[in-house]
Amino acid sequence: MAKYKHIVVPANGSPVTIKNKKLVIPDNPIIPVIEGDGIGRDIMKATRRIVDAAVAKAYGGKRRIAWMDVYAGEKANELYGEWLPKETIDAIKKYYVSLKGPLTTPVGGGFRSLNVTLRQVMNLYACVRPVRYFEGVGSPVTHPERLNIVIFRENTEDVYAGIEWRKGSPEVKKVISWLNKTMKTKIRTDSGIGIKPISSTGSKRLVRKAIQYAIDKNRKSVTLVHKGNIMKYTEGAFRDWGYELAKKEFRDRIVTEDEVYSLYDGKVPAGKIVVKDRIADSMFQQILIRADEYDVLATPNLNGDYLSDASAAQVGGLGMAPGANIGDFIGLFEATHGTAPKYADKDMVNPGSLLLSAVLMLEYMGWDEAARMIESGLEKTIQQKTVTYDLERQMPGATKVSTSQFATHIIGNL
Ligand code: NAP
Repeated sequence: MAKYKHIVVPANGSPVTIKNKKLVIPDNPIIPVIEGDGIGRDIMKATRRIVDAAVAKAYGGKRRIAWMDVYAGEKANELYGEWLPKETIDAIKKYYVSLKGPLTTPVGGGFRSLNVTLRQVMNLYACVRPVRYFEGVGSPVTHPERLNIVIFRENTEDVYAGIEWRKGSPEVKKVISWLNKTMKTKIRTDSGIGIKPISSTGSKRLVRKAIQYAIDKNRKSVTLVHKGNIMKYTEGAFRDWGYELAKKEFRDRIVTEDEVYSLYDGKVPAGKIVVKDRIADSMFQQILIRADEYDVLATPNLNGDYLSDASAAQVGGLGMAPGANIGDFIGLFEATHGTAPKYADKDMVNPGSLLLSAVLMLEYMGWDEAARMIESGLEKTIQQKTVTYDLERQMPGATKVSTSQFATHIIGNL
């Protein structure tokens, strides 16, 4: 076992390992957990209680998670004098599957977001956001239940690569002058410039993850969302590389939408996943008017960022939107909201986002029975209208309960 300064490795757990390029999950896996700052303390406590209860019930005590606290954010700063200690990164890498609460991004001092840093240092290239409706939650659309999608958003490239130069800077002058002279462009000299790199490597590994997920979870289709009609060599290439990969690596499992019509008379052959593509702007309409025609979506970084929040809002559940950052094996599962400092330690906020991220984590581990149990326990609790303040204010006749009471109700409904 690795020696850590402040991390205590639980004696009753075994590490997750890799065999034949697959994760091997023991019955007592050690799962690193970053509690998080602010409301992280409230929601992580509740989430761990619910997950432990569901795992115990689903597997009759045969399986159990050995949680291992690792530190980032304010707690790490108190313990180590730094916000993201190396041993935290080492532990997340070593144990592969981790759960994370929200972290404060220290203001000033040139700090980068800890969340972004964690994703980059571990090369967690797929941001996974499932979006589905829980009956009873208030929604701005007529049929929120028709939307049940999982968005795979590329996490490392595109305009998020952070390559940009301010208007008037020496760098931007050089870039504009080179482009206008050598490449014969006509860029105004008072422009700021940002670079949008999208690679074949980055696109293919993301689409590979999305298709594999669709196969593993018996989903019906994978839609490549792009703006390739305008940005041909970045967004358009993302689509082309996506189809190329799908045909090369998953030929026996997929059929393209074109093939469905040209070869199969409009009927999808049994057991095949349809790979299709949509232009990004049209996709925003589609999730509103034909939501039930979509399943898994694979998107470049910016499209995915917009689409995740737009679709989460559509099911009324921004506060209940789960997320995961996944690399080749490492999965870091996290609430999508922040630390909401004004509610910290008040036992008040909704643990739903973190809890559903834990559900995603259980699915990633192949512990689907416990995952389903939590989902239906949460669903039932919402239908009984015993909910935290944020849901209560959109649900007429609901009873407001604390974070810990909400957790107790969910456990009672498992
Ligand atoms: P925030 O923490 O997400 O909170 C904004 C608002 O969202 C809250 O005031 C609350 O709205 C609602 N909310 C968030 N989580 C909720 C929950 N679990 N239950 C019920 N309502 C919830 O955003 P912020 O105030 O802009 O950011 C605060 C800090 O979090 C910053 O330091 C930021 O850098 C950090 N942050 C971290 C992450 C991350 O770790 N992944 C993500 C985003 C932000 P009402 O007041 O209307 O009820």
